Amino acid sequence: MSPHPTEEQRLILRTVREFVDREVIPVASAMEHRGEYPHALADQMAHMGLFGLNIPEQYRGTEVDYVTFSRIFTELSRGWLGLAGVIGTHLVLADVLVRFGTEDQKRRFLPGLATGERRGGICLSEPNAGTDLQNISTIATREGGAYRVNGSKMWITNARYGNTFLLLAKTDPSAKPAHRGMSAFVIEKGAPGLVVSRDIDKLGYKTVETCELHFENFPVPAENLIGGEEGHGFTHAMNGLEAERINVAARGLGVAQAAFEEAIRYAQQRVTFGKPIAQHQLIQAKLADMATKIEASRLLIESAAEKKNRGERCDMEAGMAKLFATETAADVSFEAMRILGGNGYSKDFPVERYYRDAPLVVIGGGTNELQRLIIARRLLEKYKI
Ligand SMILES: Cc1cc2nc3c(=O)[nH]c(=O)nc-3n(C[C@H](O)[C@H](O)[C@H](O)COP(=O)(O)OP(=O)(O)OC[C@H]3O[C@@H](n4cnc5c(N)ncnc54)[C@H](O)[C@@H]3O)c2cc1C
Repeated sequence: MSPHPTEEQRLILRTVREFVDREVIPVASAMEHRGEYPHALADQMAHMGLFGLNIPEQYRGTEVDYVTFSRIFTELSRGWLGLAGVIGTHLVLADVLVRFGTEDQKRRFLPGLATGERRGGICLSEPNAGTDLQNISTIATREGGAYRVNGSKMWITNARYGNTFLLLAKTDPSAKPAHRGMSAFVIEKGAPGLVVSRDIDKLGYKTVETCELHFENFPVPAENLIGGEEGHGFTHAMNGLEAERINVAARGLGVAQAAFEEAIRYAQQRVTFGKPIAQHQLIQAKLADMATKIEASRLLIESAAEKKNRGERCDMEAGMAKLFATETAADVSFEAMRILGGNGYSKDFPVERYYRDAPLVVIGGGTNELQRLIIARRLLEKYKI
């Protein structure tokens, strides 16, 4: 990615902001309550180049720097977290292919992903393995020029409307440590042996689908083994998730920003005991704390993104940004609900949606417990005595 936002990248950001204000915010809550998939909005995102934000131009992408990347995710999530979900894991797949794919894989998959013709996702988690990904039991067995995949994946975002996925599987189930026997593949729907079984009914992050997948002797051509060599899949997936942390942090910031804006608007209109509630000091303290946490989240995200732009190691900083910004989303959406009183609990106002959406960013992209472990591990390396 380029180190500084160009004029073109600023223009993309402005376009996304206008799109969110005009097209997304007016319809998001009603569509979410109806459980309606945002096909038309996703198509507009494809026209804006948002499916190719981390794909180089030579593969038809609209690659932007990481600061612009994070700001776009914040803008989309300010309107509707689920909409950002349509491109979230899609871009993780693209990131892994850009960094680790063979030239043939890049040429075959990146242009379609960049234009949104292909819609992507990542198949890592399983019923018995989420945080502990080395414990997956999906197996890919080589048979001549193809692998046969058997196993089940759980929680796969974009699984129903997407068609191209990163699949993490074991190619050597007896390897010790387990990660040495894990490989990543780019897989396409079409061949028999892959069933998208059910859409998981969720608290929030609705309409973007999250599904269970079952593989039974599903064939994957050997040339779809990412990087062309077995045993590197765990590293590929971890690198992809590291890049995802900045986008998940940015999504948390967007939800927090939306909740805060609703709360501060409402607080100036709602009158109790003869004055707007914004004039009560307890409400002012809430507004001040919410805005301070939001500003701190923004600075953490941008600082991690700038480090990434410079090509520096930023796993700890991205983890800190993810941890703080997503906890902020959860806190601020709840505080916004309190400020709106009974209206905050009603579907007539969008705050209940922010409150239901926020926990997804606390859990997804590596839980915040895991972020704390990553941060602490890095700190102990840095301050080793
Ligand atoms: C809406 C939604 C969409 C998702 N989309 C995708 C997707 O597209 N692709 C995909 O692969 N996955 C996806 N996931 C799965 C998500 O990545 C996992 O839910 C997450 O990684 C946690 O795994 P788990 O649910 O198995 O929880 P577990 O790993 O079982 O963890 C349970 C609890 O224990 C904690 N914990 C675990 N290990 C430790 C430890 N060592 N120390 C301290 N605490 C620990 C966790 O933080 C958590 O609080 C999605 C999840 C949701 C809810």
